[in-house]
Amino acid sequence: MTTDQHQNRPQADILVVDDTPENLRLLSTMLVREGFYVRKALNGAMALTAVEALQPDLILLDIMMPEMDGFEVCERLKANPVTQEIPVIFLSAIDSTFDKVKAFQAGGTDYITKPFQIEEVLARINHQLSLKIANQEIRQLNVNLEERVRERTNQLELAHTQLLELILRDQLTGLDNRIAFVDRLDLALSQSKSDQSYQFAVLFLDCDRFKIINDSLGHECGDQLLIEISRRLCQLLHSPDTIARLGGDEFAILLNQIQSTNHVTQFCEEILKTFFEPFTLQNQRIFINVSIGVVIGNTNYLKPEHLLRDADTAMYHAKAAGKAQYRLFESTMHESALRFLQIETDLRKAIREQEFILHYQPIICLNTGEITGLEALVRWHHPSRGIISPIEFIPIAEETGLINQIGLLVLQQACRQLSIWQKQNVVKEEFSVSVNLSARQFSQSNLTDQIYQVLSDAQLNPRCLKLEITESAIMGNPRSAADILHNLRQRQIQLSMDDFGTGYSSLSYLHSFPMDSLKIDRSFVQGLNEISNRRGLVPIIVAIAKTMSMSVIAEGIETAQQLNQLRSLQCDFGQGYLFSKPLPANDVIELIGSHPRW
Ligand code: C2E
Ligand code: MG
Ligand code: MG
Repeated sequence: MTTDQHQNRPQADILVVDDTPENLRLLSTMLVREGFYVRKALNGAMALTAVEALQPDLILLDIMMPEMDGFEVCERLKANPVTQEIPVIFLSAIDSTFDKVKAFQAGGTDYITKPFQIEEVLARINHQLSLKIANQEIRQLNVNLEERVRERTNQLELAHTQLLELILRDQLTGLDNRIAFVDRLDLALSQSKSDQSYQFAVLFLDCDRFKIINDSLGHECGDQLLIEISRRLCQLLHSPDTIARLGGDEFAILLNQIQSTNHVTQFCEEILKTFFEPFTLQNQRIFINVSIGVVIGNTNYLKPEHLLRDADTAMYHAKAAGKAQYRLFESTMHESALRFLQIETDLRKAIREQEFILHYQPIICLNTGEITGLEALVRWHHPSRGIISPIEFIPIAEETGLINQIGLLVLQQACRQLSIWQKQNVVKEEFSVSVNLSARQFSQSNLTDQIYQVLSDAQLNPRCLKLEITESAIMGNPRSAADILHNLRQRQIQLSMDDFGTGYSSLSYLHSFPMDSLKIDRSFVQGLNEISNRRGLVPIIVAIAKTMSMSVIAEGIETAQQLNQLRSLQCDFGQGYLFSKPLPANDVIELIGSHPRW
């Protein structure tokens, strides 16, 4: 539509097609008077040419024309996508239903019978034009709507990718995170099930001593180090291998299409080698190592998480074996992890149900040959497994922290028992009981208070209690250990350094801890025999103890020869199967009552 300059409204362009010049003139004069822009065509061919040159807003089309009638003109217009939307009103002298139907079938939008009334013609034209405008508006609305839908779809897709990025990526290093890695493992597992030649391996990496770096240089530096580590690891990878940061200082690598286990172990060596080089952060050279656990994928695995679990277990074994190394997962590792869990669960129940009992092993004064004290050694009376040795459960109790509760139970029972024996006069006044303290108990802030409370509850003289502490327990935190030891010593509680010689054995620190006695570990005692003069370290340890005014107790004496040697070395006390194994309370009292002398 063009704009009528005078009336400032859209001026519709109407093409009138009629083979009768008279009709043509009449109609056009009339329409021009009504403000339309009118073009005229005398036959079908002229009409099509006029439409092609410029599309009118509406066509008034005579039906009866020579050569090409109105129906054909209309059909041609409707067949062309460019012109098919132009409304066509047919003009006909014949008022037959047949023609009208045919007119609509040909694509006409309306039908006027001649001779026409100008009002009717105008009404029908205006109606068609309004319809056309409405249609155009609807079409425009649709276009707008589609545009908006497209925009929204784009926005949604963008948000979706950003969300995926957040869900599947580690924000610090930009690597895959655990969720993404588990997805990849899942794919690898399915592939190995469908393709027997496909083999893969999972590596679980954990940085050694990372906490120290975080604590000493700050978290920002720690973060920077993690980024550098991830860069180094990425450089070692070949597509299609993938790497992920699982969290903290843990990374995982999926090696795809491995040829052999050798291939994997070589790769582990390469990783360890790249960590030989220090990292430089804040102008400082930082050395860090990793421990690696490896699991070779196989179709027995049902879930990707199980692969990670086993690689993690193997990594723990690498750490336990001294760090900065790798370990391949073996099924026995899993069994030991399960056993650990089972013992932990059972231990909690054992504490509740008081399943611990004490055995007592006599300590003999080598000078007189008489029993002067007892070492209390805990045993676990497991409801289904029978008696369990402390060697099996104490380390687990240590690691889980349950040792604090168990240690307290042992201390209470030992003190109470000795107090009862004293009152029954079955032991002499200076008779002592030794109780082992574990490293973990040493980090308890209320340890000393707890011990005093136990002594006072049992009404036992502190002099009768001897605490056995290993070197490693003290060295875990030498400063606070020294405080605790001084505190205990002030209260007259006696202190023994247990298993001496197996730990740090650093004599330089010995004087800073106020020990009453040293217990020579039984591995040294076993080395003693009469034939050889090579008595190992025992004479030296005895001599040192003497110069520091400490008494010496030899552990694990099993033969008369060992006893003789120790006597000749002036060792003060002895303990071992030669005298007696650790015994239940009743048996040990019977033994003491028989007044044995060795
Ligand atoms: P330990 O404190 O060095 O205790 C001595 C261990 O040597 C005991 O083993 C004892 O039975 C054993 N033994 C004694 N004489 C001989 C001998 O002649 N030959 C041999 N081969 N062994 C001998 P047990 O009772 O199995 O205790 C092992 C370790 O468990 C103890 O070593 C101690 O470190 C720990 N433990 C035992 N009871 C407790 C406890 O109540 N608390 C803590 N924290 N640890 C405990
Ligand atoms: Mg001991
Ligand atoms: Mg010992």
